[in-house]
Amino acid sequence: MTVRELIRQSEAMLDEQNKDCNVPKVLFYHLANKEPHELYLMMDEEVDEELLKAFHEGMQRYMNGEPIQYIKGKETFFSRDFIVNENVLIPRYETEELVENILYRIDDYFEDYESIDLCDVGTGSGAIAISLALEEPKLKVVATDISEEALVVAKENAKELGADVEFYQGDMLEPLIERNIKVDIFVSNPPYIPVDQNIESVVKDNEPHVALFGGNDGLYFYRKIFDRAYKVIKERAILAFEMGFDQRKLMEEAVEHYFPGVPYEIIKDINGKDRMLFIYYNIKEKLWL
Ligand code: GLN
Repeated sequence: MTVRELIRQSEAMLDEQNKDCNVPKVLFYHLANKEPHELYLMMDEEVDEELLKAFHEGMQRYMNGEPIQYIKGKETFFSRDFIVNENVLIPRYETEELVENILYRIDDYFEDYESIDLCDVGTGSGAIAISLALEEPKLKVVATDISEEALVVAKENAKELGADVEFYQGDMLEPLIERNIKVDIFVSNPPYIPVDQNIESVVKDNEPHVALFGGNDGLYFYRKIFDRAYKVIKERAILAFEMGFDQRKLMEEAVEHYFPGVPYEIIKDINGKDRMLFIYYNIKEKLWL
């Protein structure tokens, strides 16, 4: 069987079941260790037996409802490949925007710092912490997670990608408070989906619930963080969060309750949805605001 035949056959099967028809190509070039554009140059080649077997196994897992990223064991984030498995949330595109916005603010507000302390709470695969550490050498990054299994993945990613990040296991801010760590930039993409919200089954049935659900209204972990944040931030600090697109009102109430009078902004993602919260603690407001 040629590559073309194999891919066509699988695409037809997915089409019939209304599933994502890009998956066969994505799986194939992953297994063949090729770049997407190289796939087109090998369409008329015969598929070797081992590859065929791996392909069928992968397709079977996909048909059984597993996300393609777990099947590949990888997801690209900020142009780097991160190892992912069922112990970590699959890094999302929206979160790249959080990283990007943090980097902009480092330029805007910390330009004259020689070294900047940053923490990422609930790091999961380590995507945020590792990307920031690699993009901005001035950063000294620590990252925490409650899940030992997630930290195994995060540490492996840091090693593979050559990022210098300190990882600590523990609940939310605890590992930082215990060690008296104080940061210039506090980052978190905590679980923020309300427990009874209906979400896609590919997410709900596969990704760790400890990384997804944030109590009745989705803000449980933000309040927990806001309540004790002052223990882990320096005199002058930025706090940066990802948030749910429908949480603006609740978020504003929470921020104003825990940080009265402190300037903050909610920023939209590329799809025009409220997605990021930045709190500017003792940082002069931006001139253009
Ligand atoms: N953005 C993720 C989703 O919609 C949720 C991530 C989170 O809770 N932090 O599936």
